[in-house]
Amino acid sequence: MLDHLTGNERVKSLFRKLLEAGRVPGAMLFTGEEGIGKKLFALELARALNCPNRQGVEGCGACPACKRTGKFNYPQSAEPADLEDIIWTDHPDVGMVVAPKRVLKVDQMRRIEREANYRPYEGKARVFLIEDADKLNEQSENALLKVLEEPPHTSHIVLLTSRPGMLLPTIHSRCQMIRFAPVSASEIEAHLLKNKIASAGEARMRARVARGSLGRAVSDEFESYVEMRAAMLKILQALAVTDDRIQLLRSAEELNDARHKDEYEARLDILEALIRDAWMLALNAPAAGVVNEDLLPELQKISARLDGARPAGWLSQIEELREQLIVNINRKSATDALFLTMAAAAPPLERKRFVPK
Ligand SMILES: [Zn+2]
Repeated sequence: MLDHLTGNERVKSLFRKLLEAGRVPGAMLFTGEEGIGKKLFALELARALNCPNRQGVEGCGACPACKRTGKFNYPQSAEPADLEDIIWTDHPDVGMVVAPKRVLKVDQMRRIEREANYRPYEGKARVFLIEDADKLNEQSENALLKVLEEPPHTSHIVLLTSRPGMLLPTIHSRCQMIRFAPVSASEIEAHLLKNKIASAGEARMRARVARGSLGRAVSDEFESYVEMRAAMLKILQALAVTDDRIQLLRSAEELNDARHKDEYEARLDILEALIRDAWMLALNAPAAGVVNEDLLPELQKISARLDGARPAGWLSQIEELREQLIVNINRKSATDALFLTMAAAAPPLERKRFVPK
């Protein structure tokens, strides 16, 4: 049932209209951020098309056909070659292709075309998902054009992407584009509470961290986010409270640790968010606007040592570093330099008061 999905009410009502009219397009392009529920919506559409026990125009969600529709049979190994086949669900008419490496291959598109030309085995429609369709290259896009143009009326091909701009105009013109909006923080919070995924305080925090993506709110990403944030908080404390240069250099080293290589940008984002929070508090803004609400006591301690100018300077220094990284300067030494510049920016307010006259 569509109502079991969180957010995107506009898409739900569009789907219902299409189902009622029996006019679900044969080629669709679902766009919207990662983890927003595009795949779940596509599977719900597949259920609505194939459920023998429909409730109105929607799948019942309870019959064997509906249940099997959500279960993908991923290959046992992570070998790229094993990912080149269609990954079928337990329903023989519903499958998906994913990029084995960075690119969706021509052969995969040919497989979809071949399978799309068969009549459904069990249900009334065959549904094929193409995950991360932005990973199509020109050749694989061209291999897909024919079946997108004239899919057999019992087959539906759904391209999923967060980056529709990467696709050729010829793909766009053959697909009905369905835009998914970010899920609001309050919808995410309600979803986490309703499904008992998190306690009240944690649900609120997960919802804020998720930035519109339900997937992100429930993923391990949240745990790693909490870890990264604790590390970034240490930096801010070393800068504002303890003036601990050794800690700063240690943090710079950690930031450049090979294990955190892919998190560098994310960590900087988090550091910036913490700085912004401390800045707001230093300017006596209401605590309700603080993003990292659960860290309020720590942030208040930090903000007590700050004037408005220092955090503003930090933010622009971080932005400068980001610009420098684009031209490929050494990240390790740039990070060291950044933290030392940040530490030198201005002495904390409290110490200023003790300057002898
Ligand atoms: Zn059903």
